[in-house]
Amino acid sequence: GGGGVGGDIRVGAIYIDGSSGENVLAHAYQPLTELLSGGVPGSIGGDVHFDNSNSWSDGGGGSTIDFFTVALHELGHSLGLGHSTVVGSVMEAIYAGSRRTLHADDIAGIQAIYGPVPGPATFVIFAIGIIGIFRFSR
Ligand code: ZN
Repeated sequence: GGGGVGGDIRVGAIYIDGSSGENVLAHAYQPLTELLSGGVPGSIGGDVHFDNSNSWSDGGGGSTIDFFTVALHELGHSLGLGHSTVVGSVMEAIYAGSRRTLHADDIAGIQAIYGPVPGPATFVIFAIGIIGIFRFSR
């Protein structure tokens, strides 16, 4: 959220784009979304929406999507992380099955924002607004 003005991180399930094609599983609003857009700090920054047209599960077996994996990824965005190109990181842009353990790159990224450790490969945000995680149909 923005500067304590509103709720910090709200989580919901909505229709985003269905479950085929370039399939957005979820999206998150990055911190200070409204402020960085030239507006006043609001409460949408940090919010996460999951696509209710995908099949979610605890573990991601079969054709289902592991909810925990995507939640971990989206909350990374809520905290200010962008996508990473490091294979195996939670912040990779494409869902590749269950991934429930933070990669060293994820840790470096969050420490670059909130702690003293420099030089993460994870991209700290440049863009503003919505970032989604995609799953390409197989
Ligand atoms: Zn993402």
